[in-house]
Amino acid sequence: MRSLFASVSSLITGRRQAYLVPAMAVLCGIALTVLLLDFAGVPSAMTRLLTGARFELLEREPTGKIVIVDIDAQSLADVGVWPWPRRLYGDLIDRLVEDGAEQIALDIDFSTVSTTEDDAAFASAMERANGIVSLAMFRQKSHRSAARDGEMMVNRPIDRFLDVSWPVVVSVPIEADSRVWRNYWGEVIDGIPELSLSAFLGDASGPTDGNFWIDYSIDPSRLTTVSFTDVLNGTFPKDTFRGKKVVVGASAQELRDLFPVPVYGILPGSVIQSIAGESVLQNRALSMTGRDLLLALALVLAFPLIFAIDTNWKKRLAGLVAISAGLELAGLMIQSRYPVILQTGPAQVALILAGLHLVLKQIGFHQFLLRIARAQTQNSRRMLGQVFDDSFDAIVVMNAHREVVAASRAAIGMFPAGLKPGVMASDYLPAEMVEGAVAVLDQKGPAAAKPEMKTVRLNDKSGEPRMIEFIATGSSHLDISDEGVSEQSAVSLASLTCRDVTEERLANEKLAYLAKFEPLTGLLNRNSFVDGIAEHLLPMNLQQRPCILAIFSVRDLDRITASLGFSYTDRLRKKIARQLTGFLNANDLAASIGDDSFGCLAWVDDTAAAPGEFAARLRDAVATGYDIGGNRIPVTVNVGYTVAIGEIEDPNTLLRQARNALSRAQTGLASEIVGFDKNMEDGVNRRQKLEVELARALERNEMHVLYQPQVDLATGEMIGVEALMRWKHSELGMISPIEFISIAEESGRIIELGAWVLEQAMRDAATWTRPLRLAVNVSAVQLTRSDLPAAVKSALTKTGFAADRLDLEVTESLFIDESIDLKKPIAKLRKLGCSLAMDDFGTGYSGLGYILRFPFAKIKIDRSFVANMEKDRANIAIVKAVVDMAEAFGMTVVAEGIETIEHQKMLLDLGCTVGQGYYYSRPVPASEIANLLKMAA
Ligand code: C2E
Ligand code: MG
Ligand code: MG
Repeated sequence: MRSLFASVSSLITGRRQAYLVPAMAVLCGIALTVLLLDFAGVPSAMTRLLTGARFELLEREPTGKIVIVDIDAQSLADVGVWPWPRRLYGDLIDRLVEDGAEQIALDIDFSTVSTTEDDAAFASAMERANGIVSLAMFRQKSHRSAARDGEMMVNRPIDRFLDVSWPVVVSVPIEADSRVWRNYWGEVIDGIPELSLSAFLGDASGPTDGNFWIDYSIDPSRLTTVSFTDVLNGTFPKDTFRGKKVVVGASAQELRDLFPVPVYGILPGSVIQSIAGESVLQNRALSMTGRDLLLALALVLAFPLIFAIDTNWKKRLAGLVAISAGLELAGLMIQSRYPVILQTGPAQVALILAGLHLVLKQIGFHQFLLRIARAQTQNSRRMLGQVFDDSFDAIVVMNAHREVVAASRAAIGMFPAGLKPGVMASDYLPAEMVEGAVAVLDQKGPAAAKPEMKTVRLNDKSGEPRMIEFIATGSSHLDISDEGVSEQSAVSLASLTCRDVTEERLANEKLAYLAKFEPLTGLLNRNSFVDGIAEHLLPMNLQQRPCILAIFSVRDLDRITASLGFSYTDRLRKKIARQLTGFLNANDLAASIGDDSFGCLAWVDDTAAAPGEFAARLRDAVATGYDIGGNRIPVTVNVGYTVAIGEIEDPNTLLRQARNALSRAQTGLASEIVGFDKNMEDGVNRRQKLEVELARALERNEMHVLYQPQVDLATGEMIGVEALMRWKHSELGMISPIEFISIAEESGRIIELGAWVLEQAMRDAATWTRPLRLAVNVSAVQLTRSDLPAAVKSALTKTGFAADRLDLEVTESLFIDESIDLKKPIAKLRKLGCSLAMDDFGTGYSGLGYILRFPFAKIKIDRSFVANMEKDRANIAIVKAVVDMAEAFGMTVVAEGIETIEHQKMLLDLGCTVGQGYYYSRPVPASEIANLLKMAA
């Protein structure tokens, strides 16, 4: 400070003298600039800014003389219509007068007529109020077409109201910043001077022209405000309005009487009028002054500071700030004490310009720009740092010394603990990554190769193996320092962007696996088997050795599933698959082709017998007993195969050939092996053809029934017959029931055929001389998917056959699926009087328990047990057990497939009393049975 005074006192000496003229010029420049800026409204804006700040600092209480009645949102909601019926205002005036109001001003538009009654009610209320009511009058831009555009028109209350009230002006001037800072004292309207509402509220008696600044240090929230509804309902403290000036106006947003103001944001017109009224009442109607004087003062005070070139520029700047603060302090003090606003805006702008001059002169214009740029750089650097840190990918930046320069948060989480700027990259990152980064750093210029995505494996912090995909990119970084940018400041960096792709890769691998293999067995699926065959069957391979494509299917897998459930079947398929791969050589292919079929491709010797031998060995390998969950499941298979020699065959053709051979093998009773031969192509779709033909078989009279006698084993006497269906196709000849029954079951045709057999057999049996028992086979499909009891009943009534001579033979497998409710149809059948026989006992998978749950009269022992009795002692024990159990439950045992006298003797010895088989008779036509009966008689 001392040096400052010193420089002022020695104005005239030495070097400084030379600066006197330039300093004056600077000052003039500043003054001129302020004047120029005035056109842009800058100094006025500055004044408003500072005045607003003063309003905020100074606080003033309202006098309490003015009370507002507010048309708020609640009032609007309570009345429900707008505009309100005028009589409501009449009621309001009555209430206010009643409570002792001194003046009432309604800041509401009454310039149009409403209903006669309402207007009358309002006018008479005003009349009763005896001249204390004032009504709003305002200027507005005209929208009427008659008036010129933009012309102002006056909205005044209708004459009827003006007769009993005073008009007051409520229009307010709006400043360049769109806010209401001032109010009029009044306006001359149609040659008559009228008071403004606020002048009226403030009891002003002076001239009605000109305006004043509203003192916004008076807090509008302290004004007493009562809701319109409360006044109407009388729910306000008594004497609220006694001796008060009451302003009625709207704060409800819907009514749009709202204006932006300084300090408080947006206020309703009535509140602005009230604050302005309070300003007048408190002698705080402010006037603005001092513009030029203050500007001149500022310039004079600033001059020595600009001139004192020997003094430190920072000190001189501080001097300017002190002048500025002093001005404001004076403004604040004066405004708090007198109704005067010091117009400091231009002076402050001049001081800012002087400060700018000092700064620019000191640091130079370029430096000034540079500093701004640096601040911006710092900001964007901070922002980039944040983006870097938050980035989804892990990013590590490395320099040519292989040091880590930066590591994002994701990177710190991904790599071993301790990774941070300054450490050696090779201590924390996998070698491949560091090499990748080094390679990028070594490449320079446009020759650099395109960055390439690579993958590394590493263990994460918990030791889990992870797959990380990364890409190394290079960049050269310019280090900007105070000295500026130089050649040496370019630094080469490599940035490693890494992403953990473990889950993604695992999912992809899994998908790839699923696309190629069957997940359960791990064998190739059918599509990839076809691809594999194509790869194997290259001509040069086939020249040397033939290739065999074999398919085998597990018999009765459906039945195994039905009795033991899918999980057993799954485990069984897994074991079979293992057995199959164990049987094959490493170069052979194994595939899962369907639910119950598997395929393989293998090389065989070039001899005629080799393929057949291979197929037999394959069958022996997979068709064995499998232990699953404590059950031993015997598996039999059918095998179909085809051979490729010399020429290449299309894999799909080979597959089809093997499939056809397999279909042929499946029609047999036993586990069969069938090799493909060209003739088979004719019967490709035999099954499909049979299905079509079967639909017409009955109407073409191709079906007939044969009967096989059932015999008393002790006496050889025929006691009954089993009806067996036969199909003789006009072209295809005899078709075995083993082949067509399953087709009929699949297509549902069996329901129709079964009903036909029942009726035909009963009709035939009715012609016989002796009342033989009649056994008819019924399929599971008939029992579960059709009304079998109804079909039996209809046949019985049509033929007159006695129901108690009828045995219905059902196979054991049917009873295994517990989910199907068979109790009801079986009970109905029993009610009709017929008996049930369990057919083919011993081939299913159930225990004896099942038999006891249903009311069987007969058990038929499957012919496989009878046929093997001589060879296998175990079969004898089984037959014995069945006979004993049947006896215990009062059931008859019927032995099937008796082909020799030995069979008959053994069965008799075991206690079996009834049997059937070729030994007695093959199935024969009904007429033959009639003949036999005649012969016996
Ligand atoms: P199934 O009910 O067990 O009938 C006995 C089968 O064994 C008959 O075969 C019969 O000809 C044959 N057979 C009888 N004695 C001997 C013998 O001593 N040795 C040998 N090896 N076989 C003997 P078929 O007629 O070929 O019928 C086969 C199967 O077709 C029947 O087995 C039955 O399940 C079914 N089937 C036949 N006709 C009908 C029918 O009308 N409806 C239904 N749903 N199924 C039928
Ligand atoms: Mg039968
Ligand atoms: Mg049978």
